[in-house]
Amino acid sequence: MNGPSTIRNFDPADEELLLNTIDRWLEKDVRPVVKQYDHEDRWPAEIVEQMRQFGLFGATVSPEYGGLGLPATTYARIVMRISSVWMAITGIFNSHLMLALAIEKFGTPAQKQTWLPKLASGEIRGGLALTEPDAGTDLQGIRMTARRDGDSYVINGTKTWISNGIEGSAFALLVKTDPHAQPRYNGMSLFIAPKGPGFAVGKKLEKLGYKSIDSAEMVFDNYRVPADHLIGEVEGRGFKQATGGLELGRINVAARGVGIAEGALALSTQYAQIRKTFGKPIAEHQAIQLKLGEMATRARAARLLTLDAAAAFDRGERCDLEAGMAKYFASEAALENSTEGLRIHGAYGYSKEYDIERLYRDAPLTCIGEGTNEMQRMIIAKQWIKRNQVT
Ligand SMILES: Cc1cc2nc3c(=O)[nH]c(=O)nc-3n(C[C@H](O)[C@H](O)[C@H](O)COP(=O)(O)OP(=O)(O)OC[C@H]3O[C@@H](n4cnc5c(N)ncnc54)[C@H](O)[C@@H]3O)c2cc1C
Repeated sequence: MNGPSTIRNFDPADEELLLNTIDRWLEKDVRPVVKQYDHEDRWPAEIVEQMRQFGLFGATVSPEYGGLGLPATTYARIVMRISSVWMAITGIFNSHLMLALAIEKFGTPAQKQTWLPKLASGEIRGGLALTEPDAGTDLQGIRMTARRDGDSYVINGTKTWISNGIEGSAFALLVKTDPHAQPRYNGMSLFIAPKGPGFAVGKKLEKLGYKSIDSAEMVFDNYRVPADHLIGEVEGRGFKQATGGLELGRINVAARGVGIAEGALALSTQYAQIRKTFGKPIAEHQAIQLKLGEMATRARAARLLTLDAAAAFDRGERCDLEAGMAKYFASEAALENSTEGLRIHGAYGYSKEYDIERLYRDAPLTCIGEGTNEMQRMIIAKQWIKRNQVT
């Protein structure tokens, strides 16, 4: 079993209706403005409100808490579609849903009742705060501490690169409640941390791509949080809780990669039939056909791997290997297709007038988030060997 947001049936007709609505919204309200928002690195308030109205902030939250309760396959299809136009805005609800997932999967009944309806409606928006200046991949190396003091905990330390850090108001915060514990994960706990005294947010980090969504540093200086904000109300479970959403998280990053790979393919297919050299469209030159052939194959393979992992998740099966493969392959497909797409566009690929340059800048994030692709291949190999033991 994968947790509360899985094994859900969703009527195919309802899925089609939802996806068609998303498609119309993307063409009418998002595509015409994406370039401007991205180049200005401006928070897209109107788009966030529209996503809230669609229910995307509760996409994977159970209906009993006011969410849409979507299966991972439908959720992945939504993320693919949006990412083919503008990947960055999927981060605004995806990171938020990781917070909701941690509460729904590991929270006490009271925590679920208190937080999930507000998260599902988008009244409270937030994200997942794990990374620190000195600890990203090696998550057990974090230094942030939470010390019990009566009915509350006092938290000190710094997080960085936190998505929605400025615009969000509550975060799942990974800390050490026992910094000396061995193994290190036994001393880790996950808190629900709403903004308040002692919780300061630094400036928006400047990035290559993934613009408009805010990534920020957070400084906690004697930040006091009530003890009932400890997810599950038992210390020492934070590492498992923080990584417990990784399967869905990886399916989500894979879906973002698929969107970019397909978006780059669509832009390039169009451009190659319009741009002429030597008296014919460049699509008729073999060198360009080789690129398009590879791009189309990569995009399709990425889509199938991602939907395969999502379907396994929806069946309640363990799918860490499948989600890892999908994340790795689809993010590399995003990087390769956006690079090849840029080359197909010639000089115009290098111009800020054309959309392909944004996809080229956005793609690398998918190779970093939810486990870097360096780690991903090692994780895939370890799981593969485990499932194929010589007896
Ligand atoms: C735009 C953006 C948004 C982000 N949003 C969030 C967020 O919302 N919340 C959050 O908590 N974090 C967030 N992150 C942080 C992200 O999760 C980390 O950057 C990521 O986990 C990698 O950590 P690191 O940057 O510290 O790299 P490091 O861990 O320092 O790794 C550096 C390099 O070494 C490689 N490496 C590390 N260890 C090994 C090993 N054992 N074997 C082989 N290679 C290794 C890595 O693959 C990488 O290539 C975000 C990052 C970005 C760029």
